[in-house]
Amino acid sequence: MAHDASDDQPRRSRRVAIIGAGPGGICTGVSLLTRGHDDFVILEQAPGIGGTWFHNRYPGAECDIKSHLYSFSFAPNPAWSRRYARQPEMKSYLEDVVDRFGLRPHLRPGTPVRSLRWDDDAAVWHLTVGDGEAVDAEIVVSAIGMFGEPVAPDVAGLDRFEGTMFHSAQWDDDHDLTRERVAVIGSAASAVQLIPEIAPVVSSLTVYQRSANWVSPKDDDPYTEDDLATFAADLDQVRAARDEIFTTIDPNLTFADTDRRALYEQYGRRNIELVEDPVLRERLTPAVPYGCKRPLASNLYYPTFNLPHVELVTDPITEVTEHGVVSADGRTREFDTIILATGFTTTKFLAALDVVGRDGVDIDDAWADGPQAYLGITTSGFPNLFMLYGPNTNNGSIIYMIECQVHYVMQMLDAMDEHGLDWVDVKRDVMDEYNDEVQRALDAVEVWQAGCNSYYRVGGRIVTQWPGSMSEYRARTEHVHLDAFEVAATATT
Ligand SMILES: Cc1cc2nc3c(=O)[nH]c(=O)nc-3n(C[C@H](O)[C@H](O)[C@H](O)COP(=O)(O)OP(=O)(O)OC[C@H]3O[C@@H](n4cnc5c(N)ncnc54)[C@H](O)[C@@H]3O)c2cc1C
Repeated sequence: MAHDASDDQPRRSRRVAIIGAGPGGICTGVSLLTRGHDDFVILEQAPGIGGTWFHNRYPGAECDIKSHLYSFSFAPNPAWSRRYARQPEMKSYLEDVVDRFGLRPHLRPGTPVRSLRWDDDAAVWHLTVGDGEAVDAEIVVSAIGMFGEPVAPDVAGLDRFEGTMFHSAQWDDDHDLTRERVAVIGSAASAVQLIPEIAPVVSSLTVYQRSANWVSPKDDDPYTEDDLATFAADLDQVRAARDEIFTTIDPNLTFADTDRRALYEQYGRRNIELVEDPVLRERLTPAVPYGCKRPLASNLYYPTFNLPHVELVTDPITEVTEHGVVSADGRTREFDTIILATGFTTTKFLAALDVVGRDGVDIDDAWADGPQAYLGITTSGFPNLFMLYGPNTNNGSIIYMIECQVHYVMQMLDAMDEHGLDWVDVKRDVMDEYNDEVQRALDAVEVWQAGCNSYYRVGGRIVTQWPGSMSEYRARTEHVHLDAFEVAATATT
């Protein structure tokens, strides 16, 4: 997908504040610059850029969508060394995009956004950032992501542990695991990636698994020198690789095809056969259908359990003590380090910030029944505030989805210029109708109703997932329809 970002009609002076310098913030900044709009700032709480790919530095961290698609359409990268790039390569790609498109002067790392207040009279957002500094902006783009808040397990005594403990997303780079007794709590996406990487250096590795996940094999060969030379010589080859990945995954994103699901379950079962011990194989076999929880892929995860010093514990954890972990079978195992691979709070979205919109309405009250937004981008009562990777947009390559959202925001800025608007606010009934439609579509995804994906939900409603394909989402976000919005031209310009 390459949305045309090149029209050059004159723009009103609208200051844009972008919150977050992950892929979403970077994409927004590049799109603004490409359109000749340079009155913007990217406020990032972390000391560096890259978002997910800045924060998640655990060994083995890599993307699970092939990199030629999990990258920007406007910045094809012939140099991906492998099909699923690892974190250092992802991070340097994003840094390179920032430099190539001249974003650095707009970046303010180390600047957390504390609060946002909408000013009806001036049609402006007042932001409080850092240590209380005020920043005003007519337009706010929230690019804070979905995986910013690591979750610790709800286990008694966690704070009593006297050894080293950290979350996979807050990896302690200074801590050497060599010859340590290590516990990993969790067996989902991050655990599956990091366990094979740390196993060879530790003296013992104990994996606490609450429920098993489907882990498929992956086509993960590094690109050959010939492949890389072909990509470097002709960017059309890079685009062709991207298109091929897109065409392969786009129709299968909701797991609606039962035959395909069965096939992937079979791949998963075959992958588990890499484990030599039949009892262990059984314990690693998921009790839920493929697709019910986020599917994972690794060629390295299962063989790790053949190593003599790697143990799987499936008895629930009852307590953490000063020196170790107690499981429901009454056994205590002692550790030097506990790694929490226990995921993230994924359902807060904008409510992770302190936001007050029109008529003094707090986002927590507006979203008392859970987050919702029109197209995942705008929520009623919060004018000129656009979310990227917002409610019900999680599916496929998120970078692709973000490009659709940024395209929509750019269309909206054009429409506001064209019609001389100071603010736009999605109509409540339009948003409600859209959300009813999304929920009906989600209800039809049988495998997501199987009750094993609680982290997608708030109050029973799935708030994270997009129920369709990337193409369908792109079609929905291709054009702005101003009649879906309450609009006003009240402020002086
Ligand atoms: C380990 C891991 C692997 C993943 N792999 C894939 C993959 O293969 N494919 C895929 O499609 N998706 C993947 N994802 C999802 C990934 O988060 C998105 O693809 C993508 O990073 C979203 O970009 P973003 O800019 O919206 O958010 P993020 O990348 O999360 O960036 C958000 C940024 O906002 C900043 N921020 C948050 N709050 C504030 C605040 N108050 N003030 C200032 N700054 C703030 C954060 O510090 C962060 O830098 C993965 C996620 C994780 C955790």
